[in-house]
Amino acid sequence: METQSVKFGTPSKQATVSKVRVVVRVRPFLPQEITARNGNSKSCIFLLDHQDNGSSDEVSVHLKDPNTSRNESYRLDSFFDQEDDNVRKIFYREVNSLIPGIFHGFNATVFAYGATGSGKTYTMQGTEEHPGLMPLAMSTILSICQSTGCIAEISYYEVYMDRCYDLLEVKTKEISIFDDKDGQIHLRGLSRVPINTMSEFHQVFSCGIQRRKVAHTGLNDVSSRSHGVLVISVSTPCDDGSRPVLMGKLNLIDLAGNEDNRRTCNGGIRLQESAKINQSLFALSNVIYALNNKLPRVPYRESKLTRILQDSLGGTSRALMVACSNPGEYQESLHTVSLAARSRHISNVLSSAQKLQTPKEKVDMEAKLQAWLESKGKTESAQRMGPFATRLVGKTPSSIRSMKKLDYNSSCKVKNSTKDDPSNTKD
Ligand code: ADP
Ligand code: MG
Repeated sequence: METQSVKFGTPSKQATVSKVRVVVRVRPFLPQEITARNGNSKSCIFLLDHQDNGSSDEVSVHLKDPNTSRNESYRLDSFFDQEDDNVRKIFYREVNSLIPGIFHGFNATVFAYGATGSGKTYTMQGTEEHPGLMPLAMSTILSICQSTGCIAEISYYEVYMDRCYDLLEVKTKEISIFDDKDGQIHLRGLSRVPINTMSEFHQVFSCGIQRRKVAHTGLNDVSSRSHGVLVISVSTPCDDGSRPVLMGKLNLIDLAGNEDNRRTCNGGIRLQESAKINQSLFALSNVIYALNNKLPRVPYRESKLTRILQDSLGGTSRALMVACSNPGEYQESLHTVSLAARSRHISNVLSSAQKLQTPKEKVDMEAKLQAWLESKGKTESAQRMGPFATRLVGKTPSSIRSMKKLDYNSSCKVKNSTKDDPSNTKD
């Protein structure tokens, strides 16, 4: 990839691998949730001791089960509590600084991770009044393109059941992935659509959103079953009229919701989908853990998603994970935050961490994730998970929680019109 010079501050090339930042975003309670809770709007997730989120390097995020005396705390990079404009805050504090690097040949990745209904799509796509990280990033990139003469293009694809589909093609098309002789990953035939204005962006992107796979589960009317990846790439035109040279790209990912199959009552294809989703989320967490701990081997090949993102995670690329939480769902939030903290966790015990990277047998990742979830409170199985599991030792088994009764917006159906506002379509 070529590095070009442009007319604004150049981020320094880091000699070492950038750490993946992991932050939490708590969404506000929805009016119907407050009604269902008889007006109780107490969040199960909050910061300890009124910490100053702005000035310290890390925060202790506290979770408290309203039904029992259970409580936990985890260290993360930052915490964004339930305010209407917290997505904008995340953009200006965490994402904006990744953008100049894209114009200097660096790649970056932002993920929204969390259970279904935790606010991932809201964080990434947003609404017309409250744009999410995707339109906010696009708009910033377009304004830099205007002043530098660079060209912005978008691709949008989904990874569903470990297969990759182009969402900008009229007829959804499977994309094959291959490594070139230099070990670079390529998505053969993936469309790249040039974007000059925000209205062009909304038009193209909303068509893609409508093609994302949606399906019904026992938990929620509409649930995202695929990882949706928006790629904004920036190129610079060549004076000799030849093809523009790619500089860098920003991947913005609305991950599929993590699921607990014991609660969703999933079966058949839904169970298989769910297994693939959990497996790829666990693989992503393993990759982030390996990067943050500077392990000699980063297990990119454990899933299609991490394999595709190999050039945008690690190396000189920068990445941010936004762990999304529903303030009324203790068990779900605990699962999300503990996995996020586990990814971020920096271990000093490299020798035992490295052992994790070289399993002697092929491990069933879904079984591993399930075992990890079930191991809460069981020292023996927690030890099997190595250094990440230390926080789980001595905890009581997870409590059986009631099924969700809320209907998250049934407007989330796939539509055919290309003119619909993307904010009306949830996945
Ligand atoms: P997910 O993509 O994780 O399944 P959604 O993004 O669809 O979750 O969010 C679940 C619900 O919460 C949606 O109805 C969404 O509009 C709402 N929501 C999330 N964040 C906010 C917010 N800041 N303000 C208002 N509603 C929100
Ligand atoms: Mg969603």
